[in-house]
Amino acid sequence: MRNRRAALAAIASAASLALTLTACGQNSEGGSEEDKGGAEGATIGIAMPTKSSERWIADGANVEKELKAKGYETKLVYGEDDPDQQVSQIENMITQGVDALIIAAIDQTSSPFPDNRGSPLPRPKKKALPGRPTPVVSYDRLILGSENVDYYASFDNEKVGELQGSYIVDKLGLKAGKKGPFNIELFAGSNDDNNTKYFFNGAMNVLKPYMDKGQLVVRSKQTALNQVTTLRWDGGTAQKRMDDLLTSSYRSARVDAVLSPYDGISIGILSALKSDGYGSGSKPMPVVTGQDAEVASVKSIISGQQTQTVYKDLRELAKVASNMVDAVLNDKKPEVNDTKSYDNGAKVVPAYLLQPVSVDKDNYKKVLVDGGYYTENDLK
Ligand code: BGC
Repeated sequence: MRNRRAALAAIASAASLALTLTACGQNSEGGSEEDKGGAEGATIGIAMPTKSSERWIADGANVEKELKAKGYETKLVYGEDDPDQQVSQIENMITQGVDALIIAAIDQTSSPFPDNRGSPLPRPKKKALPGRPTPVVSYDRLILGSENVDYYASFDNEKVGELQGSYIVDKLGLKAGKKGPFNIELFAGSNDDNNTKYFFNGAMNVLKPYMDKGQLVVRSKQTALNQVTTLRWDGGTAQKRMDDLLTSSYRSARVDAVLSPYDGISIGILSALKSDGYGSGSKPMPVVTGQDAEVASVKSIISGQQTQTVYKDLRELAKVASNMVDAVLNDKKPEVNDTKSYDNGAKVVPAYLLQPVSVDKDNYKKVLVDGGYYTENDLK
């Protein structure tokens, strides 16, 4: 694995060298023809993590659509959940001369300016921002440890977890005064995704007081984040862990709720539960949360398997990220609504955070169908 931090330092000095060269009327390629400034016709590199989840396919398409509507060229790549592959894709885009980058990182420590080991300066070659480092927008997931992240476009990630936790507490009747105790198991996302701790902490803010009072019981005793993460958000990994939990802790008890951070993980959890006889006879399905409102999970909610998901309007996220890039390339300040929550270790990254919405059987039509996100037909 490369030393990405050292790479960043090298790139930072490369970027200031680029500035000096430009001040002297030269650029690193020895020409100035293309470096007139202005965003028109600029190319935006978009690095998405994986096509294995529906949401990221939609993200790629939405961002391209928004940028094209503003007159930009786009270059969209998917890293197939392999951090090194994603870094080299970004490296290639820089070499090819993209004018700005929108990155949804696979690994939160991935440098937006990977080590180009002696190859030409990573700087815009086209029309926008001559002589300045390539602007970077962290998309949905914050890149850590790098000063080169200019803006962050995401949702209120802690709120996502709070919505999941509140839903469980509500659905079990704890808020309405039921005493329990109820059995719950906890799942979290990938440990290399900065969002994971926000989701988990948000949920725990709501669940922990009930755990402390003994009204929610985690029979497996696996309650620390590092015991419950799911590498790369993989549904199969979650299914295996749920199988193991059912075998080790639920032979003589029933699980009443499962905190799941993402629909793909929920599907794995539900498979394990079904194999163990849940959802039939005397074993009702536990409350199972989720995130992203992916089609398969909304269908599962409609048919009474998964209980809830958290909907994040990706069309809005694409607009926010595209507006950020558009503003920076036109030398304007993008709109942000949070300048303190997202410290990436090198700086507090100015962010625009959108609001997530809890969705279940009762409101999916209103939110998802009336909101134009899906048609009734999509959900049949
Ligand atoms: C995103 C979630 C998504 C998860 C798995 C997170 O970073 O914020 O929306 O469910 O990755 O893809």
